[in-house]
Amino acid sequence: MYEAVAVRITPTTASTTLAHLRSCGVRGVEGMVLWAGTVVAGEARVEEAIVPVQDGRITDHGLIVTVSGDELHRINVHLYKTGRKLIAQVHSHPGHAYHSAVDDEYAIATEVGAFSIVVPDFAEGPFEVGDYAVYRLQEGRWPWQKRPSWKAVDRRQTAAIFRHGGE
Ligand SMILES: [Zn+2]
Repeated sequence: MYEAVAVRITPTTASTTLAHLRSCGVRGVEGMVLWAGTVVAGEARVEEAIVPVQDGRITDHGLIVTVSGDELHRINVHLYKTGRKLIAQVHSHPGHAYHSAVDDEYAIATEVGAFSIVVPDFAEGPFEVGDYAVYRLQEGRWPWQKRPSWKAVDRRQTAAIFRHGGE
Protein backbone atom coordinates (compact mmCIF):
# COMPACT_ATOMS: atom_id res chain seq x y z
CA MET A 1 0.00 0.00 0.00
CA TYR A 2 1.45 3.35 -0.85
CA GLU A 3 0.02 6.82 -0.49
CA ALA A 4 2.03 8.84 -3.00
CA VAL A 5 0.43 12.15 -3.78
CA ALA A 6 2.70 12.72 -6.76
CA VAL A 7 4.29 10.59 -9.46
CA ARG A 8 7.44 11.84 -11.17
CA ILE A 9 8.15 10.63 -14.67
CA THR A 10 11.51 11.00 -16.42
CA PRO A 11 11.94 11.72 -20.14
CA THR A 12 13.44 8.23 -20.57
CA THR A 13 10.36 6.61 -19.03
CA ALA A 14 8.10 8.61 -21.33
CA SER A 15 10.09 7.83 -24.49
CA THR A 16 10.54 4.12 -23.67
CA THR A 17 6.82 3.81 -22.98
CA LEU A 18 5.70 5.53 -26.18
CA ALA A 19 8.24 3.67 -28.34
CA HIS A 20 7.00 0.29 -27.13
CA LEU A 21 3.28 1.08 -27.33
CA ARG A 22 3.70 2.52 -30.83
CA SER A 23 5.70 -0.46 -32.08
CA CYS A 24 2.88 -2.73 -30.86
CA GLY A 25 0.34 -0.44 -32.54
CA VAL A 26 2.14 -0.75 -35.88
CA ARG A 27 1.51 -4.51 -35.59
CA GLY A 28 -2.13 -3.86 -34.65
CA VAL A 29 -1.82 -5.11 -31.07
CA GLU A 30 -1.97 -3.54 -27.63
CA GLY A 31 1.23 -3.05 -25.66
CA MET A 32 2.03 -3.10 -21.93
CA VAL A 33 4.75 -1.24 -20.02
CA LEU A 34 5.32 -1.32 -16.24
CA TRP A 35 6.60 1.70 -14.36
CA ALA A 36 8.77 0.81 -11.37
CA GLY A 37 10.40 3.06 -8.83
CA THR A 38 10.57 4.14 -5.24
CA VAL A 39 8.30 6.21 -3.05
CA VAL A 40 10.11 8.99 -1.16
CA ALA A 41 8.31 11.51 1.01
CA GLY A 42 4.97 11.00 -0.72
CA GLU A 43 6.41 11.14 -4.20
CA ALA A 44 6.61 8.03 -6.38
CA ARG A 45 9.66 8.35 -8.59
CA VAL A 46 9.45 6.23 -11.70
CA GLU A 47 13.01 5.01 -12.23
CA GLU A 48 12.44 2.33 -14.81
CA ALA A 49 10.01 1.52 -17.61
CA ILE A 50 9.93 -2.27 -17.82
CA VAL A 51 8.79 -3.78 -21.10
CA PRO A 52 7.72 -7.27 -20.08
CA VAL A 53 7.76 -10.22 -22.46
CA GLN A 54 4.15 -10.09 -23.57
CA ASP A 55 1.58 -11.55 -25.86
CA GLY A 56 -0.57 -9.02 -27.67
CA ARG A 57 -3.29 -10.84 -29.56
CA ILE A 58 -6.25 -10.16 -31.81
CA THR A 59 -9.22 -12.24 -30.63
CA ASP A 60 -12.87 -12.53 -31.67
CA HIS A 61 -13.72 -10.25 -28.75
CA GLY A 62 -11.11 -7.62 -29.49
CA LEU A 63 -7.51 -7.04 -28.57
CA ILE A 64 -5.79 -8.30 -25.46
CA VAL A 65 -2.27 -8.13 -24.10
CA THR A 66 -1.16 -10.64 -21.49
CA VAL A 67 2.03 -11.32 -19.52
CA SER A 68 2.80 -14.88 -18.44
CA GLY A 69 3.07 -15.97 -14.82
CA ASP A 70 6.77 -16.81 -15.33
CA GLU A 71 7.47 -13.33 -16.64
CA LEU A 72 5.55 -11.73 -13.74
CA HIS A 73 7.60 -13.83 -11.34
CA ARG A 74 10.83 -12.69 -13.02
CA ILE A 75 9.71 -9.05 -12.70
CA ASN A 76 8.74 -9.49 -9.05
CA VAL A 77 12.19 -10.91 -8.28
CA HIS A 78 13.75 -7.96 -10.12
CA LEU A 79 11.62 -5.50 -8.13
CA TYR A 80 12.56 -7.19 -4.88
CA LYS A 81 16.29 -7.08 -5.73
CA THR A 82 16.20 -3.43 -6.77
CA GLY A 83 13.97 -2.36 -3.87
CA ARG A 84 11.46 -0.90 -6.30
CA LYS A 85 7.74 -1.26 -6.51
CA LEU A 86 5.25 -1.28 -9.32
CA ILE A 87 3.92 2.27 -9.45
CA ALA A 88 1.84 1.92 -12.59
CA GLN A 89 0.93 -0.38 -15.42
CA VAL A 90 0.47 1.33 -18.75
CA HIS A 91 -1.22 -0.25 -21.76
CA SER A 92 -2.52 0.93 -25.08
CA HIS A 93 -5.88 0.63 -26.79
CA PRO A 94 -6.52 0.95 -30.53
CA GLY A 95 -9.07 3.73 -29.98
CA HIS A 96 -10.85 5.01 -26.89
CA ALA A 97 -8.98 4.68 -23.57
CA TYR A 98 -10.92 3.15 -20.65
CA HIS A 99 -10.50 0.34 -18.14
CA SER A 100 -12.35 -2.64 -19.57
CA ALA A 101 -13.72 -5.52 -17.47
CA VAL A 102 -10.78 -7.59 -18.75
CA ASP A 103 -8.38 -4.86 -17.63
CA ASP A 104 -9.97 -4.95 -14.16
CA GLU A 105 -9.79 -8.71 -13.93
CA TYR A 106 -6.27 -9.25 -15.26
CA ALA A 107 -4.48 -6.23 -13.84
CA ILE A 108 -0.79 -6.77 -13.15
CA ALA A 109 -0.54 -4.04 -10.52
CA THR A 110 -2.21 -5.37 -7.38
CA GLU A 111 -0.98 -3.04 -4.65
CA VAL A 112 -3.53 -0.55 -3.35
CA GLY A 113 -2.38 2.90 -4.45
CA ALA A 114 -0.97 1.67 -7.78
CA PHE A 115 -2.08 3.28 -11.03
CA SER A 116 -3.33 1.78 -14.26
CA ILE A 117 -3.02 4.05 -17.28
CA VAL A 118 -4.70 3.38 -20.62
CA VAL A 119 -3.24 5.17 -23.64
CA PRO A 120 -5.62 5.76 -26.59
CA ASP A 121 -4.99 5.42 -30.33
CA PHE A 122 -2.03 3.03 -30.00
CA ALA A 123 -0.05 5.90 -28.40
CA GLU A 124 0.12 7.89 -31.64
CA GLY A 125 -0.10 11.23 -29.81
CA PRO A 126 2.58 12.98 -27.75
CA PHE A 127 3.28 11.80 -24.19
CA GLU A 128 0.59 13.51 -22.14
CA VAL A 129 -0.79 11.66 -19.12
CA GLY A 130 -3.62 14.21 -18.98
CA ASP A 131 -4.89 12.78 -22.28
CA TYR A 132 -4.87 9.21 -20.97
CA ALA A 133 -7.43 7.31 -18.92
CA VAL A 134 -5.98 7.01 -15.40
CA TYR A 135 -7.23 4.67 -12.66
CA ARG A 136 -6.01 3.99 -9.15
CA LEU A 137 -6.46 0.84 -7.11
CA GLN A 138 -8.55 1.56 -4.02
CA GLU A 139 -9.17 -0.43 -0.90
CA GLY A 140 -12.42 -2.43 -0.92
CA ARG A 141 -15.26 -0.87 1.05
CA TRP A 142 -16.62 -3.38 3.55
CA PRO A 143 -19.15 -4.97 3.49
CA TRP A 144 -20.50 -4.46 0.00
CA GLN A 145 -17.18 -4.64 -1.74
CA LYS A 146 -14.32 -6.48 -0.12
CA ARG A 147 -11.82 -6.56 -2.96
CA PRO A 148 -9.82 -3.52 -4.04
CA SER A 149 -11.20 -1.87 -7.17
CA TRP A 150 -9.99 0.51 -9.87
CA LYS A 151 -11.33 4.02 -9.52
CA ALA A 152 -11.05 6.62 -12.28
CA VAL A 153 -8.80 9.61 -11.57
CA ASP A 154 -10.20 12.72 -13.23
CA ARG A 155 -8.21 15.02 -15.47
CA ARG A 156 -7.71 17.69 -12.81
CA GLN A 157 -6.39 15.18 -10.27
CA THR A 158 -4.21 13.60 -12.96
CA ALA A 159 -2.63 16.97 -13.75
CA ALA A 160 -1.90 17.47 -10.04
CA ILE A 161 -0.42 14.00 -9.52
CA PHE A 162 1.79 13.39 -12.57
CA ARG A 163 4.91 15.52 -12.87
CA HIS A 164 7.89 15.52 -15.19
CA GLY A 165 11.51 15.73 -14.25
CA GLY A 166 14.59 13.93 -13.04
CA GLU A 167 16.47 11.27 -14.94
ZN1 LIG B 1 -7.41 -2.44 -21.92
